Amino acid sequence: MTKIQMKTPLVEMDGDEMTRIIWQLIKNKLLDPFIDLKTEYYDLGLANRDATDDQVTVDAADATRRLGVAVKCATITPNAARVEEYGLKQMWKSPNGTIRAMLDGTVFRAPILVKGIRPVVRNWEQPITIARHAYGDIYKNVEIIVPGAGKVELVYTGEDGTEIRELVHEYQGPGVAQGVHNLDASITSFAHSCFRYALDTKQDLWFSTKDTISKKYDHRFKDIFSEVYEADYADAFVQAGITYFYTLIDDAVARVMKAKGGFIWACKNYDGDVMSDMVSSAFGSLAMMTSVLVSPAGVYEYEAAHGTVQRHYYKHLAGEKTSTNSVATIFAWTGALRKRGELDELEDLVAFADRLERATLDTIESGQMTGDLARITTLSSPETLSTEGFIEAVAARL
Ligand code: NAP
Ligand code: MG
Repeated sequence: MTKIQMKTPLVEMDGDEMTRIIWQLIKNKLLDPFIDLKTEYYDLGLANRDATDDQVTVDAADATRRLGVAVKCATITPNAARVEEYGLKQMWKSPNGTIRAMLDGTVFRAPILVKGIRPVVRNWEQPITIARHAYGDIYKNVEIIVPGAGKVELVYTGEDGTEIRELVHEYQGPGVAQGVHNLDASITSFAHSCFRYALDTKQDLWFSTKDTISKKYDHRFKDIFSEVYEADYADAFVQAGITYFYTLIDDAVARVMKAKGGFIWACKNYDGDVMSDMVSSAFGSLAMMTSVLVSPAGVYEYEAAHGTVQRHYYKHLAGEKTSTNSVATIFAWTGALRKRGELDELEDLVAFADRLERATLDTIESGQMTGDLARITTLSSPETLSTEGFIEAVAARL
């Protein structure tokens, strides 16, 4: 069999623990036999991030800007326990945070739907993709404890000395106050990423804030989205047969619960944090959630939404059999290969991505799956496979 050829390499970011093992299995059993795989490899495993003083993460993000499409394995975000476990020089920052900051991207999270794993919300038939703004609001807040009677004010001082002053509250007794901010540039990037991704995936885009209450702050988000849409995307949306729809966050929640799915829901930072956990749990499994970072410049980085599955890795190290779900990591690869195929006009590569996804879903729908899905499936007598066994079953079907 002649292998499928690639033109431009993918940026490949290897990672940690159980997902690092899955990464190698996917390459050996599902990709290498069929594709003459071209990648620029960056080892983001914690040991190598430490050895390179995290330069490897910066290099990988630079390569993504240069080549346009990346696929990333889950990585450890160090905490105090990890610093000790790996003897780290310092508590390196989250690689995802570093990459997101460098690419100025928005993360889109979408569930992978499969027959036999029913969403908790009965009428959800298609995925709901959450787009979460990744800058500002309460994540960059400044807070004070107000000790007693007195006033809190919001003061802006321009470079030329002009001042805007607003009274927040005249306190009669103790309380709390906080200041939050956002930037037109960041909101504009967020809007571009959302409109672009909606066009890419041919799905309607919903955006919600609380602009009836927050008449300046949230209203600014609404206005910027509307301006960006009218200036750059309105015609393309009409041509693609999709719509942009703005509504209040509480109205959006009510509509989402009654909807069939099949759309993107763009959320402010905090709303996206909360809603993405709600939507992903209601769809069934963290192991079936994909994630793609899309930059306003049109650069894509695909990964699984879950972490390195540390608990399973320790079982693996202890010589026990594991049953870790590789679906989201497989779909990170297919997402990246499909996008690379589209950009380079390689029909074979796009078709391969489709077939690998189909083989993965067919394997599950035929009753062969990992333990996490076997526990929640509506199929009768599912066969629980090991980590490796599941990937081999997909390979056999492929
Ligand atoms: P996790 O790796 O997402 O796993 C949490 C639990 O969810 C697992 O123990 C397992 O439950 C279940 N699970 C997640 N993915 C699964 C899969 N593919 N197959 C089967 N079950 C799965 O989160 P964590 O254990 O809290 O974090 C581990 C490390 O991942 C941390 O160091 C964290 O920094 C990192 N992390 C990285 C990313 C990223 O790179 N994007 C994201 C999140 C976390 P059971 O144990 O009940 O089977
Ligand atoms: Mg959260």
